[in-house]
Amino acid sequence: LSQRMSERAVDVIKYLMKEGQMMKPGDVIDADLAEIIATEFGHTVKRVSESDVEEGIFDVADEEGELLPRPPVVTIMGHVDHGKTSLLDAIRNANVVAGEAGGITQHIGAYQVEQNGQKITFIDTPGHAAFTAMRARGAQATDIAILVVAADDSVMPQTIESINHAKAAGVPIIVAINKIDKPTANPQKVRTELLQHEVFVESMGGEVLDVEVSAKNGTNLDKLLEAILLQAEILDLKANPNRTAEGTVIEAELDRGRGAVATVLVQKGTLRPGQIIVAGDQWGRVRALVNDKGDHVKEAGPAMPVEVLGLSGTPAAGDKFAVVENEARAREISEYRLRLARDKAAARQSGSRGSLEQMMSQLQTSGMKEFPLVIKGDVQGSIEAIAGALDKLGTEEVRARIVHSAVGGVTESDISLAEASNAAIIGFNVRANTQARQAAERGGIEIRYYNIIYDLVDDVKAAMSGLLSPER
Ligand code: GDP
Repeated sequence: LSQRMSERAVDVIKYLMKEGQMMKPGDVIDADLAEIIATEFGHTVKRVSESDVEEGIFDVADEEGELLPRPPVVTIMGHVDHGKTSLLDAIRNANVVAGEAGGITQHIGAYQVEQNGQKITFIDTPGHAAFTAMRARGAQATDIAILVVAADDSVMPQTIESINHAKAAGVPIIVAINKIDKPTANPQKVRTELLQHEVFVESMGGEVLDVEVSAKNGTNLDKLLEAILLQAEILDLKANPNRTAEGTVIEAELDRGRGAVATVLVQKGTLRPGQIIVAGDQWGRVRALVNDKGDHVKEAGPAMPVEVLGLSGTPAAGDKFAVVENEARAREISEYRLRLARDKAAARQSGSRGSLEQMMSQLQTSGMKEFPLVIKGDVQGSIEAIAGALDKLGTEEVRARIVHSAVGGVTESDISLAEASNAAIIGFNVRANTQARQAAERGGIEIRYYNIIYDLVDDVKAAMSGLLSPER
């Protein structure tokens, strides 16, 4: 306190002695006493809550007039083996300008390509798992989801998961019907099957864009990029490049030669070497920025992915980062975040945020009208029966919203979807696998198991009317 007041500690201690309090440097005093002392020494006191530490750093709003168009950020999702990785590679390779560092690109977790002079950013980790894991940490990095479906196969469980994860995030889908080079390819079958999952492509009277591609032969990749740009135009994506940078960590690792290396996606403002940033509970002065071609760059603007060198340690994927004015501020925020994480972990020990009761009370206080649920069941019939019964329970004030339902046990991906959507998980005649159980424990998500529909409906009904007793 004496340091902050630029007073000698001995003067503060003398004052305290005069007031009958024997103290030595390093002793802890409460806020009330601190206010009395500061006022006594002629300072104006402003009381702030601890969370004010981050005020003016994260989620700083922009004036409409400062916003300029920015490139879209795209994630590729779909069932295993339908060609997500192949498509990401094909798009990247097709867009490497000849002669550019021998055509070698570097994997940094995201890359940018150009189509008709417009940039598009691709997140280089395919799949809805990474997408939703980041969302569970509060990051909203993706603007558009490319749903890859193999034309020689059909809509598969992870196709459906991808659809539901994208929908839960409110992210529009573009369908890439892949492997059209195969003789057994049947794109029309894919379109028809998607109807059942409420993905209506244009030729079926809907608004979802779809493109037939072959990642293997590089067919129609330009058409896919054009569809992305068209969708981006509809979304009217904008950001202010002329301000301090904020964004999201895509991935981070400890490199033996370079130290902590974090790939970040700049979402607002422009990031430059020399600036001090906080990322999750880590901070540091930006020593260098490296783009997806391995080149050092002088700045990174909205939607641009760059590697940041100079952080004290590795933040987690999905952590937000922001530029702060000085080291003291950076340290203060990172310490606050460490404390926050510790408190959260402690809170998890004592209760789970995903329990039906807690979510109901959350809904009540937030005035939300929907009760999000993830339902896993042993057979499609029972899931449909549950969905039907829950639908009947809905009232004017509150109704159950099924974020995702599928046949099979509860998986890790269900947990992160529940976490990101604030949903409860219901297992009907199925259990959770080990990874899912561990993830649920970490995230404080409660999974409820049932084997009688009546019990389930009863519990949800009680939760929805706020009557469920704390112990079941
Ligand atoms: P992911 O699991 O979705 O990432 O799928 P991959 O990209 O690993 O592809 C799975 C398999 O499908 C690989 O053997 C690819 O070579 C193959 N594959 C991917 N795209 C195409 C395509 O357009 N045509 C054909 N014939 N094979 C493809």
